[in-house]
Amino acid sequence: MIEKILVANRGEIAVRVMRSCREMGIYSVAVYSDADRKAMHVRYADEAIHIGPAPSSESYLNIDRIIAAAKQSHADAIHPGYGFLSENAHFAERCAEEGIVFIGPSPEAIRVMGDKISARQAVAKHGVPVVPGTDGPVHDEEEAIRIAETIGLPVMIKASAGGGGKGMRLVRHRDEIKDAIRAARSEAKAAFGDDAIFIEKYIDSPHHIEFQILADKHGNTLHLFERECSVQRRHQKVVEETPSPLMTPQLRMEMGEKAVMAARSVQYYGAGTIEFIVDDNLNYYFLEMNTRLQVEHPITERVVGVDLVKQQISIANGEVLKLKQNDLKQNGHAIECRIYAEDPDNNFMPSPGIIQHITEPLGLGVRHDGYVYEGYEIPIYYDPMISKLIVWAGSRQEAIDRMRRALYAYKITGVKTSIRFLKRIMESRDFIEGNYNTHFIEKNYGFLMKQQECPSDCEDVAIMTVLIDHLDRMEQAQPTRPEGQRGNLWKEYGRRRSLMRL
Ligand code: ADP
Repeated sequence: MIEKILVANRGEIAVRVMRSCREMGIYSVAVYSDADRKAMHVRYADEAIHIGPAPSSESYLNIDRIIAAAKQSHADAIHPGYGFLSENAHFAERCAEEGIVFIGPSPEAIRVMGDKISARQAVAKHGVPVVPGTDGPVHDEEEAIRIAETIGLPVMIKASAGGGGKGMRLVRHRDEIKDAIRAARSEAKAAFGDDAIFIEKYIDSPHHIEFQILADKHGNTLHLFERECSVQRRHQKVVEETPSPLMTPQLRMEMGEKAVMAARSVQYYGAGTIEFIVDDNLNYYFLEMNTRLQVEHPITERVVGVDLVKQQISIANGEVLKLKQNDLKQNGHAIECRIYAEDPDNNFMPSPGIIQHITEPLGLGVRHDGYVYEGYEIPIYYDPMISKLIVWAGSRQEAIDRMRRALYAYKITGVKTSIRFLKRIMESRDFIEGNYNTHFIEKNYGFLMKQQECPSDCEDVAIMTVLIDHLDRMEQAQPTRPEGQRGNLWKEYGRRRSLMRL
């Protein structure tokens, strides 16, 4: 049985994994670079081991140092989080060789699913629809032009090793193909050391809908329904929700079954995600599988009522899944916003720096997975995500209201953040109506960027939220304060909020 877990990661996900460890009575070991000496995950863990300089290639991606830290701390397992080494088959193999449990799938499953071409081949053999496109890698530009014309433009040129939106090019015209291939290849070579590319049909009005999978080592595989991840900027997710406004019960059942088949195609075990692209006519196609915990896993946890990290650990322990597909239900609605240290007014450039002040949103139905604190300096070396704000409510409309309330209460100074941009998403008609696809941000860009055009004077509502908060605190400190002030403020707040419903 696993008694001590080294978490080979940093930031919010390291803390989140350690929280589940603590609930399970499992010791946690943090690893940290020079830039993370004062990081929250180091403070939270039961033990912490320094693994090297700030650049990730010399610390969080350095397999030898992580294995040495696991040996030194006598950890029996490693949880890789997401990013870094989480989808590195070689790392999973090394863990096995060293007698350390890798909390994730087999190296073979990581390898097949880590390459988009072999993943397409594996799932297609099991009857899972894939985006129409090439069966194998494309060798030269002439071949690419022939294929694109057969599939029909527009097409996506994609790096087989791609991830994080890198190595992907949309081609609308025949004469753009050569340049797109060169660009995709060189981007993929630089980022992944592999320049293999393939071609896929471009799906119009695409929705990104993914299914959460859990599978044990005894052949039991189930899905925990969908997550709608179509609010994207540059092919990167910004807001996720579940259930998807697009979904029908029939489609959910069908896609869930296909997701389970996709996982079975590689004898998958652990937690994983099958990503699909869905068009307006509800045709769906396998896009890829992520063989790890996703950033957006909390919305599934909230709606299905399952701790996915605990499930990962018990699967790694060789236990049989206690959950049964027919017992799983979606309860209510959850939304996640990713909060970044970035400047929306400056092309979303990362905005690292010292957190001067932070007020985290609290209250009914709010979960905040973060790791920064006042005085903490966000390092320049890593992903600039500060936290994930997750809300839950009985209905979608109530969840949107709650997210808006939480975003208004969320205050960070010292670094620029994406909070304002996220508030605008929660106020946009298309989002409120659930009428959006992956073009949502482009389509609503003007509205999302221009604070002053907000029809209901959002800033006033924000100021009032802070005032009410302040009065609440005063009331606690001074219970004899005359009533009235707060009531009036609430009335005004309610009036403005109802105006905000477009
Ligand atoms: P990555 O692994 O780099 O994240 P994905 O294949 O998962 O790349 O695609 C990321 C996003 O790019 C999708 O969520 C979708 O918005 C867009 N995309 C990918 N493939 C297609 C396609 N064939 N047609 C339309 N949009 C696509």
